Amino acid sequence: MVRALNFSAGPAALPLPVLEKAQKEFVNYQGTGMSIMEMSHRGKHYDAVHSGAKARLKNLMNVPDTHEILFLQGGASLQFSMVPINFLKKNETAGYILTGSWSEKALKEAEKIGKTKVIASSKESLYRSIPSRSEWGDEKDLAYLHITSNNTIYGTQWHEFPDTNVPLVADMSSDILSRPVDTGKFGLIYAGAQKNLGPSGVTVIIANKQWLSQSTNSLSKFLDYNTHASADSLYNTPPTFAIYMLGLVLEWAEEQGGTEGLERKNKEKSALLYDSIESSEGFYRGHALNGSGSHMNVTFTLPDQDLEKDFLAKASEHGFIGLNGHRSIGGCRASIYNAVPYEACEKLAEFMNSYRKNHSARSFTFQ
Ligand SMILES: *Cc1c(COP(=O)(O)O)cnc(C)c1O
Repeated sequence: MVRALNFSAGPAALPLPVLEKAQKEFVNYQGTGMSIMEMSHRGKHYDAVHSGAKARLKNLMNVPDTHEILFLQGGASLQFSMVPINFLKKNETAGYILTGSWSEKALKEAEKIGKTKVIASSKESLYRSIPSRSEWGDEKDLAYLHITSNNTIYGTQWHEFPDTNVPLVADMSSDILSRPVDTGKFGLIYAGAQKNLGPSGVTVIIANKQWLSQSTNSLSKFLDYNTHASADSLYNTPPTFAIYMLGLVLEWAEEQGGTEGLERKNKEKSALLYDSIESSEGFYRGHALNGSGSHMNVTFTLPDQDLEKDFLAKASEHGFIGLNGHRSIGGCRASIYNAVPYEACEKLAEFMNSYRKNHSARSFTFQ
């Protein structure tokens, strides 16, 4: 069997050993004669899966005892609403830093719930960078400050997290577990699993317990974080199979040396692609400005759209999957999450280099 060279943005590549282990256990989980999918979420086998995944995540992300881990459904998109529903009270204002399409979407949902304020935005410069602290407006007295740690579509990433006196909320959907993070510094972190943590279907939340206890939400029991926190994410039927897969991915992450090992590998991988872009004499143009480039999603364009089309077609012929940019902005994007092997990135870098050599004889002007 040949594994695809999968650079999809999400759902995305999973580690082969994880898929193989899941396959081995698929129809007969630990001698029970059942798949994990067929078991009660209140039985002892699933219970071990559930608490095991939680313990592994706590350990890998250094989650302090002050923080709670939740496994919810609805994707990161539901968190766009749940955060303000729980934490944006009447007469309060929530701050948002806009660094791409996902932060815009998060802001739109918060606007439906209460007052909001854009503290900084790189929209005017086409989201090529993360706004520096000196460009921020006043963030005092906010109910919380929301950021998107990695901008999946534009290919930029926060390389340092800001200190702030208000609860910091981060959408980490596309870079959670890709590097060490000072988890205790955040009021709340959320991430849909399907980029760096496992299959779609489960959303991981890491939240400060004390802050959670202050949430007010009379709208819906289900949308109240405390409902899930007090029930250990078993208030209703959780996505058992997705959580089982998450546990396997976390086990694999431990074997990679945890977040430090993964970060080292991720930097090596992204360096291969950024080097191909930078050494191309303008043939490839990275979207992100220096210092803001993502180690998870490398975005770039070619001199014109015809070449881009041709590049993507040739790449596809060579077995590269998922290199087209997001439908909203076009261009090319290589998503190189934790599970994408170094060797796949090496092959892509080689392909990019040889494609350029074959086409740079042709004169071009960059649009
Ligand atoms: C993919 C993505 C989302 C959307 O996640 P869903 O789980 O599909 O709702 C939100 N934010 C970021 C940063 C993403 O990369």
